[in-house]
Amino acid sequence: MTARITVPMQVHRAEVVRTQDLSPTLRRVVLGGSGLADFRTTGVGDEYVRLIFPVDGQTEPTLPTVTDGNLDYGSIDLNTMRTYTVRSFDEQRGEVSIDFVVHGHGVATTWARNVVPGRPLGLNSPTGLYCPPQNLDWQVLVSDLAGLPALARLLEQTPDEVQTRVVVEVPGPDDEICLPKRARTTVTWVRGGNGRVGSRLDEIVRKLHLPDGDGYVWVAGETAALRSVRRYLRHELRLPSDSFKVVGYWTDASESWQERYDALDDSTRRDLEGLWDSDRDEEELLDEYEDLLTALGL
Ligand SMILES: Cc1cc2nc3c(=O)[nH]c(=O)nc-3n(C[C@H](O)[C@H](O)[C@H](O)COP(=O)(O)OP(=O)(O)OC[C@H]3O[C@@H](n4cnc5c(N)ncnc54)[C@H](O)[C@@H]3O)c2cc1C
Repeated sequence: MTARITVPMQVHRAEVVRTQDLSPTLRRVVLGGSGLADFRTTGVGDEYVRLIFPVDGQTEPTLPTVTDGNLDYGSIDLNTMRTYTVRSFDEQRGEVSIDFVVHGHGVATTWARNVVPGRPLGLNSPTGLYCPPQNLDWQVLVSDLAGLPALARLLEQTPDEVQTRVVVEVPGPDDEICLPKRARTTVTWVRGGNGRVGSRLDEIVRKLHLPDGDGYVWVAGETAALRSVRRYLRHELRLPSDSFKVVGYWTDASESWQERYDALDDSTRRDLEGLWDSDRDEEELLDEYEDLLTALGL
């Protein structure tokens, strides 16, 4: 199984301390309050949390409980939760910063667009996925706008001696933010796709030269656009499972995708969901899962 870096599960009630627009499409929300006093970070640059938003008409979010180290959602509507990266954790001030892509519509983007200081939000303990070899010589970090907060933190935390190639695909020049300056790092901004149809992420990754030595490739973006990227790394370059991580962060036109998924017959859905009840290598499972989805036109 792929490494997941975790800390003991907890659920926190935080409050918005301040907001800051980093660009017209990226808004930072800083969370604080006494509920974050015992927040623990994994320290991993792409660590993510589940944010729990108040449901329509209420100000307080309904928080899950923790049973035997796992989240227990009870009857909570799962549509009140979304996954976001911890852009930074200031331990002294007890503040967690989250950078939201401000896009068309959705529970999270609407909340982030309108939120004011004092508003509550729930979050759980973080999990990290980025897991490079110990003596990392080089890394490639590629993302679209949604992966940019994680990419920025990964870059910030990169040791000086690591040779780093960064490529970020964004809709346009206004979306380019100031990234942490690192030694031995080359950054390219690609304008146009933002991961969805018309994305050049696959072409970009295929053109990258991967140096010799111990390396790691990390890619985050639109789920369908990344399918061919993962296949390229795994089946054409034949990189071992532990030397790359490709993570689908969002799904373009997710409502129609979900409708088509919900319309699948019970046995097909059981096949898809049953795949994950296995301790086989996660990349092998992903091969089968993505093949099935592709065959179903999903
Ligand atoms: C591990 C992980 C870390 C993530 N970290 C971040 C982060 O730090 N910042 C961040 O902004 N996102 C991040 N995401 C992505 C975020 O969870 C999704 O974009 C999420 O769907 C947004 O929820 P929403 O309520 O705004 O929109 P939803 O209700 O999920 O979707 C509503 C509509 O918006 C579209 N949509 C969703 N996301 C986007 C997008 N990014 N751009 C354009 N259209 C979109 C959907 O296709 C749908 O049509 C992360 C995801 C994962 C898995």
